[in-house]
Amino acid sequence: MRDRNANKEGRRPAEGGVGLSDLEVQDGTCVQSRATRKVDGAPRPELSSEDDRQLDHSLRPHSLAEFVGQERIKKVLGMSIAAARQRGEALDHVLFSAPPGLGKTSLANIVARELGVNLRMTSGPAIERAGDLAAIVSDLGEGDVLFIDEIHRLARPVEEILYPAMEDFELNIVVGSGMGARTMALSVKPFTMIGATTRSGLLSSPLRDRFGQHYHLDFYGHDDLARIIKRSAQLLGIRIDDEGAFELASRSRGTPRIANRLLRRVRDFAQVNEASLVTREVALGALELLEIDACGFDKMDRAILLAIIDKFDGGPVGVDTLAAAVGEESDTIGDVYEPYLLQEGFIARTARGRIATQRAYTHLNRARSDTLL
Ligand code: ADP
Repeated sequence: MRDRNANKEGRRPAEGGVGLSDLEVQDGTCVQSRATRKVDGAPRPELSSEDDRQLDHSLRPHSLAEFVGQERIKKVLGMSIAAARQRGEALDHVLFSAPPGLGKTSLANIVARELGVNLRMTSGPAIERAGDLAAIVSDLGEGDVLFIDEIHRLARPVEEILYPAMEDFELNIVVGSGMGARTMALSVKPFTMIGATTRSGLLSSPLRDRFGQHYHLDFYGHDDLARIIKRSAQLLGIRIDDEGAFELASRSRGTPRIANRLLRRVRDFAQVNEASLVTREVALGALELLEIDACGFDKMDRAILLAIIDKFDGGPVGVDTLAAAVGEESDTIGDVYEPYLLQEGFIARTARGRIATQRAYTHLNRARSDTLL
């Protein structure tokens, strides 16, 4: 799956010479910036996923106390970690589901750290054969955590190795072949499996049922995102005031990873414009340059909404047709873009496909054809 923003075109602030004024118009839904001015200049270096990985790594919270928001999850998870430690047993298997960038990997790291055990990380598509997974599981120490990202993408034969491993801490290994083939049960040390998925609906039910704890992470509110931005700013040595942090927070699509990305882009903008403090005005200038609008939508979000409205008369339209219309992969639309547009009520899902809501029409300044009649 491609990450959002990974292929964005941008402009270098210095050459664009964007001013910091003239940015706000109220549109009834979000604080709308007049992001219509095009700025020419050399392309901004792409925000590659390698950049993202490094940023994620350096800003990752290390304890439940440092992990901002998701209070209920922290409380329940904290309790089960404490109980498992008291009993001296492996923690029950955990499944985290959420769109990308909401903190699933961070929580897996925190769980292992708070349990005081080793963490082994892999991902569904990286495990090609059942034997690869058997080797990983048999190598785990007592109580260790095995984290499998994108667990919904495990191949079926690999997944089947997991059932007895998770349930009885046994691996069923086939020895020999043909008529002489036998299955041998090999014991492994009790371990904790943490699965992360952007699509819990795609998980098979035998696999889902083997997780004792299932947590769905919600998009973050503006206050929590502002706290995350301030924490990251401190770690990166960026000076930002409350209003600057709140402005970035309100445009981060409820997603900490996007908040951190925006913060870094704003730092570049502030540096080039010789602003020693990121204020709301500085943040607005950078956001305009990045073509992030008042709702936190970027070009692709707007392309999706515009395609539904202009090309498909407001919908309903199937995700594959929509993906072809905007030149993006269907999975990326489903995993990365759609959840936030749905949660904020800009699109709705019907049995026949996606439709644009009134909110989308208002935001994009479009009149509904049915209201013109
Ligand atoms: P996911 O695995 O769900 O894609 P990550 O755990 O990799 O998301 O989170 C992306 C980045 O966002 C992390 O590196 C971290 O810097 C930041 N982050 C995510 N959730 C939180 C949080 N609750 N508090 C502070 N930072 C967070």
